[in-house]
Amino acid sequence: MNPNSEAESQSTNSSMSISENLKSLLNTIPKDVTLVAVSKTKPIPALMEAYHAGQRIFGENKIQEMESKWQEMPEDVEWHMIGHVQRNKVKYMAPFVSLIHAVDSLKLLKEINKEAEKNTRVINCLLQVKIAEEDSKFGMSEAEALTLLNASEVEELHHVKITGLMGMATFTEDTKQLTHEFQKLKKFFDAHKNTYQFTTLSMGMSGDYMLAIANGSTMIRVGSAIFGERNY
Ligand SMILES: *Cc1c(COP(=O)(O)O)cnc(C)c1O
Repeated sequence: MNPNSEAESQSTNSSMSISENLKSLLNTIPKDVTLVAVSKTKPIPALMEAYHAGQRIFGENKIQEMESKWQEMPEDVEWHMIGHVQRNKVKYMAPFVSLIHAVDSLKLLKEINKEAEKNTRVINCLLQVKIAEEDSKFGMSEAEALTLLNASEVEELHHVKITGLMGMATFTEDTKQLTHEFQKLKKFFDAHKNTYQFTTLSMGMSGDYMLAIANGSTMIRVGSAIFGERNY
């Protein structure tokens, strides 16, 4: 054995495997919270390890990467697009995507509807609402989200279904601030869930999912806590 491979096997032994990470995560969250395993940048064998441990929902943030993984992974995987979506790329995921988390305009919703219709599908979508204090590029204000939800044109989009909301908190360890941001979205969600028949509130990532759940999240998007750190 050369010294390098010995060092490598030691570091693997000292860290938990993907399936162990997944199992301990699932043991800490309530059964009615849905886990999206965020597999962006990770290779197929890593996804397959999670798959063999029972995980079926995977999240990606690049459409082309998701499409190629869809072709390689078993058919019963549910694919969630969690990243910002460019309209000209919707067609590549329309045949198979099961939930799009970050819809932030009527134009995008119309494009998704058009491509879903071509595939005779109804695609579930979440509206991304801005909750972070830092001025993030993506997502709508609450007022913009309501304008979209009330737009008469939306009623004619029979191939999309808005099933809830998604939010990304500030990248911080400040629990007070995170709590405030999650509570704000939860309040908005509760105020409108009956009117628009929302079922899903997507918030919480590796660093803050317990806090997100404590504040009403029904769907968490967790990457590095399952698959390890990403090397971009
Ligand atoms: C990458 C990503 C995640 C997961 O991030 P981790 O910190 O690795 O859990 C969740 N949501 C979105 C939108 C992401 O882009």
